[in-house]
Amino acid sequence: MTQKIDEHKIEEIRSNSDIVNVISDYMHLTKRGRNWFGLCPFHQEQSPSFSVSEDKQIFHCFGCGAGGNVITFVMDIEQVPFPEAVSKLGERVGITVDVAPREQQVSTPEAQLQRRMKEAHQIAADYYHHMLMHTEDGEVALQYLESRGFTEALIEEYQIGYALPAWDGLTNLLTARGLDLQEAAQSGLIVQREQDGSCFDRFRGRVMFPIRDEQGKTIAFSGRILNKDANEAKYMNSPESPIFHKSDVFFNLDKARATIRKHHHIIIMEGFMDVLAAVRAGISNAVATMGTSLTPQHVTKLKRLVQQVTICYDGDGAGWDAAKRAGEQLHDAKLKVNVAVLPDKMDPDDYVQQHGGSAFKEHVMDKTHPYIAFVKMHARRGKNFQFDNDKMQYVQEVLELLVHNTSPLERDLYIRQLAEETTLSEDAIAATLRQKEADEARRTKRQYSEERYSPVVVTMQTKLNATDRAERRLLSHMLHNVDVVERVQRSDMPSPFIHDVFTAVYIRLIGFYEQHDKPDFQRFLEQLEDVELRKIALESAIIERDPDHGDQEVTDCLQYLNKQRLLRKMEQKQQLAIEAEKMNDIMKAVTLAEEVRKLRIAYASM
Ligand SMILES: [Zn+2]
Repeated sequence: MTQKIDEHKIEEIRSNSDIVNVISDYMHLTKRGRNWFGLCPFHQEQSPSFSVSEDKQIFHCFGCGAGGNVITFVMDIEQVPFPEAVSKLGERVGITVDVAPREQQVSTPEAQLQRRMKEAHQIAADYYHHMLMHTEDGEVALQYLESRGFTEALIEEYQIGYALPAWDGLTNLLTARGLDLQEAAQSGLIVQREQDGSCFDRFRGRVMFPIRDEQGKTIAFSGRILNKDANEAKYMNSPESPIFHKSDVFFNLDKARATIRKHHHIIIMEGFMDVLAAVRAGISNAVATMGTSLTPQHVTKLKRLVQQVTICYDGDGAGWDAAKRAGEQLHDAKLKVNVAVLPDKMDPDDYVQQHGGSAFKEHVMDKTHPYIAFVKMHARRGKNFQFDNDKMQYVQEVLELLVHNTSPLERDLYIRQLAEETTLSEDAIAATLRQKEADEARRTKRQYSEERYSPVVVTMQTKLNATDRAERRLLSHMLHNVDVVERVQRSDMPSPFIHDVFTAVYIRLIGFYEQHDKPDFQRFLEQLEDVELRKIALESAIIERDPDHGDQEVTDCLQYLNKQRLLRKMEQKQQLAIEAEKMNDIMKAVTLAEEVRKLRIAYASM
């Protein structure tokens, strides 16, 4: 901790930030009994073991042991140090905290590199935006945007810009600002020539759309070519870089998050231009992948945020196929999926352009199809039911889907529908489905038995032995009662704990009590910068204590741990004695044996 924020301010911000509320900004939580549950954002899991206690204002994951309070949650999820986490939370509740710029806080070289790259991207975004808005050269690009329905407010909000058709505009600017050109090249902003190491602008003569991460920091660009005759791609994206990973980025997630949270619903689109069209139509919960199809990382991210997803892809054949694949992934992840279908091979951008925003809302977004209905439409495309082959093919494709995740009721319904549509008998269709289910069951059974021997199981928490339990219980008393720490300090033992991590927490707790005269578990957690130490402190804090027999419990723990320590010492000395004997160092061996004898007597009298 390098920075002092007024303690009262921290307390005020913490007490005004409800933990359930804050965590809900990042993931979907469901209430079960007294607590809230969700999929842990700190490890990969299929069923929720991440719990949030509204009463205690803490979170804890039973899968990976992550835990803490509202401030440490923000530290962990945003990967920011304490002052910045407090400041972010302060922003939410309208309390301003001044923190020093990030460069004085981040520590690892990778984090510093990423910060510099994001800064360079911000400089570039400002530069492109200025070129668009305030120069004569930018006018042609501005006209293009206006013709596509972009208002000035939208251009401002998304910081859209223009890269001049020159080779060195940005390169010169970055040089003048003293930035490392090699890093700028590594981040994709400019290109370095192999021959002489000289650099030139990657984006030239393009309308520039900044791509931001979830924190709203620019991490990449997509540039649309203005000159239609050019032999270049219409859109060009930044390459993969230390700050831009296409497989887990969603365009617009930073701005869409508030609406997504409010409606528990997200719309995914194929391109960022579609998202901007949706924004023009007044839809603010749409995001887009960046030039990739939906990846497992995307699905995990979506699953943490919502339970309901609408896919709105292009209306052409490729778009339909992509929607079916994305839908299948989301459906398998147990999300509720709807598909919006666009007419006449249009994409959302074309549609809003031609028919306007309200038509898009009314005729497309309000008339979505449940995923299974969409799959049927998809399977039906290009088939002629006058041919038996087409009919059979259709039934097979739809049944393929019914095998996964459908209730018996749904199955009945769809079997009946299929029979009506194809005039095949219900019995025959049901028999085909049973066959498919049997195949599927055999497959998953095999998969399951393979999984059982894979090391994935390691995510389960290790079982605690008696020493672990005693350490946790003792620390728990210390966290809730200053007297316990004082009592241990008065005795002359350096640390009552066996394991170093507990000693580390203990030493920090002594320091804490020197500054704060009463226990404040929340405040203490926040001061632990090390996640491992925080885990230990949290796990200890939440175990049961018997407040009526606190003293007795502390005495028991101390005694037990003392005995354990003695036992360990004895074993060590014994080992050394054996080694000394082997080395023919008889004097040493005798001395050690005598020490062991004394320890044994001490142990027996405990
Ligand atoms: Zn976890």
